[in-house]
Amino acid sequence: MFEHIQAAPSDPILGLNDAFRNDPNPKKINLGVGVYKDEQGTTPILKSVKQAEERLLNQETSKSYLSIEGSQAYREAVQTLLFGEDTQIISKQLAQTAQTPGGTGALRVAAEFIRKHLPNATIWVSNPTWANHQAVFQSVNLEVGSYAYYDVDTKSLDFESMLAGLSQVPAGDVVLFHGCCHNPTGIDPTPEQWYQLAKLCSKQGFLPLFDFAYQGFGAGLEEDAQGLRTFLNHVPEMLIANSFSKNFGLYNERVGALTIVSDNADQALAAFTQIKRAVRTNYSNPPSHGSAIVAEILNSKELRSLWEMELKSMRSRIHEMRSLFVNTLRAKGVNQDFSFISKQNGMFSFSGLNPEQVSRLRKEFSIYIVGSGRINVAGMTHENMEPLCEAIAAVLKEE
Ligand code: PLP
Repeated sequence: MFEHIQAAPSDPILGLNDAFRNDPNPKKINLGVGVYKDEQGTTPILKSVKQAEERLLNQETSKSYLSIEGSQAYREAVQTLLFGEDTQIISKQLAQTAQTPGGTGALRVAAEFIRKHLPNATIWVSNPTWANHQAVFQSVNLEVGSYAYYDVDTKSLDFESMLAGLSQVPAGDVVLFHGCCHNPTGIDPTPEQWYQLAKLCSKQGFLPLFDFAYQGFGAGLEEDAQGLRTFLNHVPEMLIANSFSKNFGLYNERVGALTIVSDNADQALAAFTQIKRAVRTNYSNPPSHGSAIVAEILNSKELRSLWEMELKSMRSRIHEMRSLFVNTLRAKGVNQDFSFISKQNGMFSFSGLNPEQVSRLRKEFSIYIVGSGRINVAGMTHENMEPLCEAIAAVLKEE
């Protein structure tokens, strides 16, 4: 029965990681995959996470199922991180949150919810966007469109085209925004631009879906939530898919959430029952361990301040690597302007390297970069910066 089934193409980013792993060159450098790396090139377990796990091991009394929507303590902690302390959204119960397996799980549940309850909606994603967005939405047969985002020439946000594109999106469609640290460009709207986008959304009447996978990796926990919170001042409804894979380093524990916001508590609750239905027929209920870690950390003063310090140190390391990369390229005689890299947010930037240059870096120098030229800045270290920039200089010189 399986004879006629063709092999699916390998995932472009995860496939790159396999190739990196199999490369015997001891000087290989991985700027491909989307995980944080420290100065030693490892993806560490945070100290706050380890301490929370120790506490949990002692406290845990049962492995019984969580409810469909997940742990209550976790769901409350998620809302406080998203909306801030003492907000009306929380006190008036205008938001309902389901714990999901990672941000991807949240997006998938959101996709199923949209497909079923807004069956004529097209979902609009930025061009470019995270490679899995289109695939997740298409997997439930949603129509996916794209809006302008990136100006290749200036390597910055093409805000005019973005606004022009979104002004064509009709009421009833859905628009996906990256809450911060846009993947893959590293370019986010300014607070003023968020304001304009929120006003436009309110005027057009489309539904915003925020994908918030990097809270705390840009400028800080509160600062990174600015866009989302600005929208909430202007629009009555929103979906938010958030992930704790990066900011807690909990990649393989699969911790995320889908939150629905309405200006009416009863409506939020009614819509939420449909989200729970989507969960029940998908994975039934979420895994417990990762969410218990997050709730333990966020609800303990001591662990929370340790976590915030660790998050800050990840964020600072990335900023430092951005500046060092730009300066080292300049020192290696590269004339091309790479200064835009030091102005961007989060782990990713579009380097501007073309597919041919990316391929040469891999073949000749064992430097792994996604074909689009997206680089993971967290893959850089003080140690690999010199050989990395020398290789890029060599490839650029021979153009
Ligand atoms: N959304 C964006 C923009 C991402 O970059 C990622 C992960 O790379 C995700 C969602 C998915 O996160 P998770 O690993 O929690 O599923």
